[in-house]
Amino acid sequence: MTEPLLKVQDLVKHFPISGGLLGREVDRVHAVDGVSFELQAGETLGVVGESGCGKSTTGRCILRLIEPTSGEVIFNGQSVTKASKSELRALARDMQIIFQDPYASLDPRMTVAAIVGEALTIHKLTKTPREYDDRVVQLLETVGLSADHMRRFPHEFSGGQRQRIGIARALAVNPQLIVCDEAVSALDVSIQAQVINLLEDLREQFQLSYIFIAHDLSVVEHISHRVAVMYLGRIVEMAPARLLYTNPQHPYTEALLSAVPIPDPKVSRKRIPLQGDVPSPIHPPAGCHFHTRCPIAKKGLCDREKPALKQSAEGHWVACHLRG
Ligand code: SF4
Repeated sequence: MTEPLLKVQDLVKHFPISGGLLGREVDRVHAVDGVSFELQAGETLGVVGESGCGKSTTGRCILRLIEPTSGEVIFNGQSVTKASKSELRALARDMQIIFQDPYASLDPRMTVAAIVGEALTIHKLTKTPREYDDRVVQLLETVGLSADHMRRFPHEFSGGQRQRIGIARALAVNPQLIVCDEAVSALDVSIQAQVINLLEDLREQFQLSYIFIAHDLSVVEHISHRVAVMYLGRIVEMAPARLLYTNPQHPYTEALLSAVPIPDPKVSRKRIPLQGDVPSPIHPPAGCHFHTRCPIAKKGLCDREKPALKQSAEGHWVACHLRG
């Protein structure tokens, strides 16, 4: 196997909570709690979990849009976590992000040409106004828009079109890695499929790698080569997509999968309801974070000892005392 494009090693992000008269740190939100994985060039890793499981924070820490508390991120052999400001600016060309909310992530006062071309100016990628315009048109056409859209403003577009503008903006610097942070979650199902197909085509065309973050397993199924399931800041299962969907090992993955509808009306799936809500990441449960909701938790073990992420089969990793 070749050297991975991205290595994430024991990534931790705790957000301090201040309180009292002196504004001292009184607690911490354990948003990301020791996440490790690798990503190959041209690969898509789906990252899934309920709201608050730390998946978006993980994505942002990888790009250092949020400073990690500890751990290391290595991209193309270079440490992102130790990079200086100028090194980080250079790395930003190779690592881009597409956000969930295309409404909030596009400046309503800027034309589409200015939004898509902003990075061309920052990184001095075009020399003349003509070259700039040509590149913007090329980028718009790559994502299924046209030159006619250049002088318009974000409010003149549908949600799907706005997300295409966000994708064109990310592509402007010829990145190698794009973190898609709930990039299709705000879109209607039919538009979701179109944007996922576009991302898949672009991955092949430009040999891109994606970290595709979503809260729904059905959304990441077709785009991901591998899928990581997160719960309260930790990866609890990670496997090639086909394996994860046909032979889930972790009780949390089983419960998430049982909620995914099957398109064939003749096939049914037994729903495994999850008890209660996700516990607070300020005081996550001891041992296995999932033990308060797990239907097979073993008292005295699961509530005391943290299960390690172990390989149960080729490429299939599970963090559970009783499975794998
Ligand atoms: Fe359930 Fe225990 Fe496995 Fe955690 S370690 S998922 S609580 S059985």
